[in-house]
Amino acid sequence: MSNIAAAIITIGDELLIGQTIDTNSAWIAQRLNAIGIDVLRRVAVGDNKDAIINSIEQELASVSLLIITGGLGPTADDITKPLLNEYFGGKMVVDEGVLDHLKDIFSKRNRPFLERNMKQAEVPDCCKVLFNRMGTAPGMWFDKDDKVIISLPGVPFEMVYIMENEALPRLKQRFISDALLHRNIITAGEGESFIAEKIIDLEAALPAHIRLAYLPGAGMVKLRLTGRGPDSEILVHELEERQQELAARLGKIVIAMEDLTLEQILGKWFTENEKTIALAESCTGGNIAHHFTQVPGATNYFKGSMVCYQNEIKETILGVKRETLEQYGAISEEVVKEMVLGALSVLNSDIAFAITGLLSPLAGARVTVGKVWMAVADKDRLTTKEFNFPYDRERNKDMATSMGMLMIWKFLNP
Ligand code: AMP
Ligand code: MG
Repeated sequence: MSNIAAAIITIGDELLIGQTIDTNSAWIAQRLNAIGIDVLRRVAVGDNKDAIINSIEQELASVSLLIITGGLGPTADDITKPLLNEYFGGKMVVDEGVLDHLKDIFSKRNRPFLERNMKQAEVPDCCKVLFNRMGTAPGMWFDKDDKVIISLPGVPFEMVYIMENEALPRLKQRFISDALLHRNIITAGEGESFIAEKIIDLEAALPAHIRLAYLPGAGMVKLRLTGRGPDSEILVHELEERQQELAARLGKIVIAMEDLTLEQILGKWFTENEKTIALAESCTGGNIAHHFTQVPGATNYFKGSMVCYQNEIKETILGVKRETLEQYGAISEEVVKEMVLGALSVLNSDIAFAITGLLSPLAGARVTVGKVWMAVADKDRLTTKEFNFPYDRERNKDMATSMGMLMIWKFLNP
């Protein structure tokens, strides 16, 4: 069974000069894809009547669904609403629901509602209004022959609100009769090609209605099974059978069977095992702590992080010995060992992690750029690891953060 085909048109002069990056169509494409609608084209056009009409006609010739964003603001350059009205042969009428919502917004902001604001409550009488709780411009849904055209505001969080709450549920009803379900496997420590080689026969044996996607991230690869079928119970069973089979083959590199981030996976471990963790961060400057604290409930296991950037602070706060720093340099196995033991005792946690490294060139540095030392310890064990990251400062920091969290996970699951 072939998928529904869609196109996305984003409107705005700012998109064409590169002042605003078109994030809307990427987001929309992902969401459509997730419910089984294929995006065939993404087009950006300026705030220009002919350009907009031309692109609408061109796209409608080959798709069943067209989503348009932008050009719905109250200013003169925003022409999408009257233009769609004309194109679909409608008449502009005040929508009572939109009017109430606008009056409510104006009174909450203590602004008088003027006659000219009435324009904002007008919509073509040939569309269905998609309520915009997040702003003043409503979304619009048009049916033309057996095609659907949806117009949404350009402001990303308004567009997202309307898509999630108004458009996607209706699109599912209108176009999708099959169930579309996912199951995930998160792996760490091996690359895509290694994994592909290892499961080559299992992947080849997947039935046509179940697809496997490889989604690589820093140090990790997510495997996503997507299944489509008329009966969701049967589909769940089929997907989970394949998921188990793949996971069994991949063995120890599987770190989760759900779509979780590394910090969520760690959070689950610490919660289930009732253990605490503390960090001593030098080169990541608190970034690992930021990741840990992205998880609700982290307060139950995450004790804190000490950002000990200068050598003096490594000495006074963590108790790293001056001789160690002088003899081996701040980026060394000896120093990271003393840092992790310092974190363990000062922050009084069950497990501690420490990191020290050089992320960009520094005069007089004793190590090469990208060299990072990490350590994990509890009261019985201590492991260290050296890394040499080859990227720029920002990416090195991201990699160090991911690899650090992975190292913690491996320490906990030897
Ligand atoms: P508009 O509905 O055209 O008035 O758009 C309002 C604002 O949303 C613009 O000022 C842009 O900064 C932003 N915007 C418009 N289109 C996009 C897009 N495709 N991606 C991200 N932001 C956008
Ligand atoms: Mg605009």
